[in-house]
Amino acid sequence: MEECLFCKIVAGEIPGAIVHQDEHLVVFKDINPQAPMHVLIVPRRHIASLNDLTPEDDNLTGEMVRRAAALAKERGFADGYRTVFNCGAKAGQSVFHIHLHVLGGRAMTWPPG
Ligand code: 5GP
Ligand code: ZN
Repeated sequence: MEECLFCKIVAGEIPGAIVHQDEHLVVFKDINPQAPMHVLIVPRRHIASLNDLTPEDDNLTGEMVRRAAALAKERGFADGYRTVFNCGAKAGQSVFHIHLHVLGGRAMTWPPG
């Protein structure tokens, strides 16, 4: 996936403000943060969108969600944070390598825009 921005950040070809990495995931700060904490939880493996997930990815997506909870807790935001998967251009997905947004540190409203 030579042209994928997040594959390049995962590979270290483009710098990212990495806050966590492990065997399956890389987590880095969003370049255009929408909250005091705004990080992106990104699987190392390229998956374009939620529509491309298979049952084999269930552990991976579980790890993503649990990592979001762990990061929010570490930063003292366990009492209120937002997790978002944008899926498809119409929903605002601009990078087609799945990523879980984790936002915290401010009041959140509902519904999102
Ligand atoms: P999406 O719109 O696909 O749900 O989210 C993509 C996110 O990636 C956006 O919030 C955007 O600010 C972030 N982003 C875009 N380019 C870069 C980049 O080069 N580095 C980092 N760290 N974040 C990026
Ligand atoms: Zn990719």
